[in-house]
Amino acid sequence: MAARNPTRSVRVGNVTIGGDQPIVVQSMAATRTQDVAATVRQVRLLEAAGADLVRVAVDSRKDVAALAEVRAQTSAPLSVDLQENYRLCVEVAPYVDKIRYNPGHLHHHEKQKSVAEKVAFIAETAAANDCAIRVGVNCGSIDPRMLERYPGDHVSAIVASAAEHCALLDQLGFERYVVSLKDSDWKQVVEVNRRFAAERPDVPLHLGVTEAGMPPEGVIKTRVAFEQLVSQGIGDTVRVSLTVPFDDKGLEISTAREILADIEAGRFRSVPPRFDEGLNIISCPSCSRVENEKFVELAQDVKAMTEYAQEHEITIAVMGCRVNGPGETDDADLGLWCGPAAVNLKRGEESLGHYSYGDILPRLKQELDQIIEAQT
Ligand code: SF4
Repeated sequence: MAARNPTRSVRVGNVTIGGDQPIVVQSMAATRTQDVAATVRQVRLLEAAGADLVRVAVDSRKDVAALAEVRAQTSAPLSVDLQENYRLCVEVAPYVDKIRYNPGHLHHHEKQKSVAEKVAFIAETAAANDCAIRVGVNCGSIDPRMLERYPGDHVSAIVASAAEHCALLDQLGFERYVVSLKDSDWKQVVEVNRRFAAERPDVPLHLGVTEAGMPPEGVIKTRVAFEQLVSQGIGDTVRVSLTVPFDDKGLEISTAREILADIEAGRFRSVPPRFDEGLNIISCPSCSRVENEKFVELAQDVKAMTEYAQEHEITIAVMGCRVNGPGETDDADLGLWCGPAAVNLKRGEESLGHYSYGDILPRLKQELDQIIEAQT
């Protein structure tokens, strides 16, 4: 095993990410943040499973109020996930230890302001509230400027976006930051993280395969990516994303610990034969933004219904909400993303309309059969 990259130490509450510290294991609450009792229960469940850090999503002032109550009921180090509304960081920072922003989401609001100004605002807020920052770059929401700069080359666009934000934070003299570069394809996760780590070996990295899906496939994808990166000294904190019922979320933590222990002990598991061939179902782990509680069941039903298509090279993406659903299904052959009362169906980038939770599976099957027919 290669020695860990000499990353900086970044303190997040009473946890330290990077440097010579053990790899930090984290997860995210999959409850509606405004359901304070459920969110506290989920944070405690993750803590009991061994989570070092728990992330919560906040999209509105009501979420902030709920977060304050959650904070009062737990001492777990908390991280918060900001989406387009980056200004909310002022309100959430007093209650958390780390703020995650996505460079791909900073162009939505206040278009007259530069990205540098927005990053400065987040960094000043974090510094004033003793918070660390995660620059979280995601394949499904890459900064459009980077997509223009690197047409057809997502890997370069993701790496350049992360490097640009590191440079902005460096110029501001803000050092308490970590970076994540995530994709639902484990091979891309390996490539983007290797490239970024070669460019910025000093920056602590948060590893994860986003929308890895359901066990066992979601576990295997994550294991392969972590084995290739951690064994090369890359990675200071990890999150395993699994689509599992809320009460089983502790599995994300136990799986992460098991994978890390195996790598440490030199126990590498080979990829099952033909693992990367045939039907690929990607699904998000769900979070506070999930729009219908039936989401996990829907993902499981899609998996069961599509069993007959195992041999076909088709990707189906199942996502929980409108925030990431439309973008992160673009690259799949068929995409589903949940609304409160209906499921939106896409074929590639084309929208095929929305269907009730009762009607979506037969409609999906129709499209799947057409694709299979066209392939044969
Ligand atoms: S797609 Fe939506 S519900 Fe699923 S994890 Fe991402 S933000 Fe949460």
